[in-house]
Amino acid sequence: MTAKIISGTETAKAIREELKIEIAELKEKHNVVPGLVTILVGEDPASQSYVSAKNKTAHALGIHSEQVTLAADTSEQELLNLIEKYNNDDKIHGILVQLPLPKHINEAKVLYTINPDKDVDGFHPVNVGKMVLGEQCYLPCTPHGILELLTRSGVNTSGAEVVVIGRSNIVGKPISNLMLQKRDGGNATVTICHTRTKDMAAHTKRADIIIAAVGVPKMVTADMVKDGVVVIDVGVNRIGKTADGKAILAGDVDFDAVKEKAAAITPVPGGVGPMTITMLMKNTLQAAKQAAGLI
Ligand code: NAP
Repeated sequence: MTAKIISGTETAKAIREELKIEIAELKEKHNVVPGLVTILVGEDPASQSYVSAKNKTAHALGIHSEQVTLAADTSEQELLNLIEKYNNDDKIHGILVQLPLPKHINEAKVLYTINPDKDVDGFHPVNVGKMVLGEQCYLPCTPHGILELLTRSGVNTSGAEVVVIGRSNIVGKPISNLMLQKRDGGNATVTICHTRTKDMAAHTKRADIIIAAVGVPKMVTADMVKDGVVVIDVGVNRIGKTADGKAILAGDVDFDAVKEKAAAITPVPGGVGPMTITMLMKNTLQAAKQAAGLI
C-alpha cells in the first residue's frame, strides 16, 4: 500500500480562498476589517520567519496586519504595556506574541495579559478551559489545523484508536482533548505517549491514527505502525542545510518508509505547517466578527 498524501498546502489554500471571500464580505457589508498584531521579541531566525509568514498571509487575505519587533533585552513590563495598548485598540482583533520569549520574560504572565477575546493563538487559560469544556473559543492553531486536515480528508475519527505522541501545551495536550470530544471530528479513543511511556511501539502499532508532535526526526518508523494507519506528522526538525544554505526539514515520522504502510500521511514540509498559519487567520476573522457582534 502506498499512502494518500494529505496535503496541508492544498487544504490551506482552499481554506484561505474561503476566508478571503468572507473577509471581503465582512468589509463590504459591515465595514469591518479584521486586524492582527504580531509581536516578536528578539532576533531568533526561525521566529522571524514564522512572524513574517503570518504577516504576509494576513495581507494576502485582506487582514489589517501590524508587525512589532522588540529588542531582545526589552523588559517584561514594556512588553506587558504594549499588549495592554493593543488590548484597547479597536482596529486590532487578534494579538499574537511569538514564542519562545527571552528567558527574563515570564511567558505565562504575558499570555495571561492578552485579552482572551483577542487571544487568537488560543493559549490564554480562559480559552484553554473553554476548549476543554467544548465551548465556543479560539482553538489553538496547530491542533485546529490538524482537525481540519482530518475532516477535509474524510478521515473518520469516531471510535478510532488515536495515539498522540507528545504532551506539550500547544500541540499534544490540546489535540488529544479535541479528538476525545463528543462531536463530529472527535469521539476517538485517545492514548498519549511521552518520554516516560514504557513501550511506545505497543501503543502505536494498534493506532488507527497517529499524531506525532515530538521534535525528534524520523522517530516513528515503519515497524511501529500497522497497515492502513493515518499519520499526521507535526514535527519540524532541521536536519541539515542545502548547498545554498536552506534548511533541510524532516518530520517526526520516517515518511518514506511509513508511507508504504499507511493509508494516508502528511508530508513535512507541506503538511501541518501551512494549516497552522491558516487557522490563525481563521481565528482573527472569528475575533473580528465577535467584536462586531456578528457571532
Ligand atoms: P515540545 O514542547 O518540545 O514537546 C515535545 C513532546 O514530545 C514532549 O511531551 C516530550 O515528552 C515528547 N518527547 C520528546 N522526545 C520524546 C521521545 N524520544 N519519546 C517520546 N516522547 C518524546 O514540542 P512541541 O512544541 O509540541 O512541538 C513538537 C514538534 O512539532 C516540534 O518539531 C515542533 O517544531 C513541531 N511543531 C510544528 C508546528 C507546525 O505548525 N507544523 C507547530 C508546533 C510545533 P515529555 O513531556 O515527557 O518531555
